[in-house]
Amino acid sequence: MEQQVAVSPAKPASEFIVGEPRQHDLWDTVRAQIDDVAHRLNLDPGIHAILRRPERELTVSVPVKMDDGRIEVFAGYRVQHSSILGPCKGGIRYHPDVDLNEARALAALMTWKCAVVGIPFGGSKGGVQCDPRQMSESEVCRLTRRFTAMILPILGPKRDIPAPDVNTNPQVMAWIADTVSMLEGHSVMEIVTGKPVPLGGSLGRAEATGRGVAIILTEVLNRLGRQPSDTTVAVQGYGNVGSVAASLLDEMGCKIVGISDVSGGLYSPRGLDIADINQHVAHRGYLLKEYQSSDVESISNDELLTSDVDVLIPAALEHQIRADNAAAIRAGVIIEGANGPTTREADDILRDRDIIVVPDILANAGGVVVSYLEWVQNLQRFFWEEADVNLQLERRMIRGFDEVWDYGQEKQVSLRLGAYMLAMHRVATAIGVRGIFP
Ligand code: GLU
Repeated sequence: MEQQVAVSPAKPASEFIVGEPRQHDLWDTVRAQIDDVAHRLNLDPGIHAILRRPERELTVSVPVKMDDGRIEVFAGYRVQHSSILGPCKGGIRYHPDVDLNEARALAALMTWKCAVVGIPFGGSKGGVQCDPRQMSESEVCRLTRRFTAMILPILGPKRDIPAPDVNTNPQVMAWIADTVSMLEGHSVMEIVTGKPVPLGGSLGRAEATGRGVAIILTEVLNRLGRQPSDTTVAVQGYGNVGSVAASLLDEMGCKIVGISDVSGGLYSPRGLDIADINQHVAHRGYLLKEYQSSDVESISNDELLTSDVDVLIPAALEHQIRADNAAAIRAGVIIEGANGPTTREADDILRDRDIIVVPDILANAGGVVVSYLEWVQNLQRFFWEEADVNLQLERRMIRGFDEVWDYGQEKQVSLRLGAYMLAMHRVATAIGVRGIFP
């Protein structure tokens, strides 16, 4: 259990960018966490000031010729939070809610994520504010190529390496790699990870985030002395993370009683037939609402979050678990497959209720771990078997989990605080030994 320490927000050495929007968003959540942890670690105020702002930010206006001949201009961002531990690393997201503050927050989470699982990358994130579901494939292709060209000045295999995130996939990564290769005049496949395998993508990358979530849950169950066969699970979000996690946990013997996507949710106290649902999804796309079977009830996303389960896996978007629903959550364990699914207020409520929360920066690190393995394979021009990739992933996830769990026990703090404290300590130590240029 976490020790209650009275903490006043630490004062940074200098204030952040003047005039930034003051709404309560993920960046507020992430920065409040940074301030809290800086205070607990007794960080030098100058190092705290470095960590609470991104190293570099690029905002671009991306004109795209739409299929009907109109020109539409989209807002795009690439934020590099830190390159202290290595090249910046982080995904590219296409979503109507993308903005600069979201990219800042997600970039900082990437810094802590890479540090907590010990891979030699810093953190970045980018995205375009758009709704790809309303766009044709060729419009998304042109958007991707123009956006890539506009952020290319700060990208590079030794500078900043994008990857998939919400609503982007191996095809989008292929367009990015092709665009950079055309502009540079030679093949630069190592500019992105999460590529299709024939272009140098890694075996196991597509499933890596969901597999990492399943590995982490297995470790939690081990620590609690519980068996998968006695464990019921609900998964919010049935995209690349949620669907893979649900399928692997189902194979391990957990009972998946609830799942949901943007269209709604499905619930069955006797356990859902995940293989049958996956077939439906393969044919109909991510429209769980249309799936029908006896014994299966339709539920809303909110009902899914508060359903009667042992384990909840939020694997959709940020700020889904909030002050207004945290008290109603019945799961005893939460594994954060999404980035930032829990608000600060909700986190306090969950902690006071002794709910075990494995934080995003550890729970969903499987994706970037295999991105690292893909980058290593690309640089070596030597490719591994899938079993070798999965073994490396498992080792690194278990090591990260053990370190965070043991540190949390030792310091009497939650897993989230423990993960942040470990990660920020590692980055702060690296700043100390590197020194401040010049
Ligand atoms: N978008 C993923 C994440 O949030 C993967 C990032 C990467 O592989 O670089 O962790």
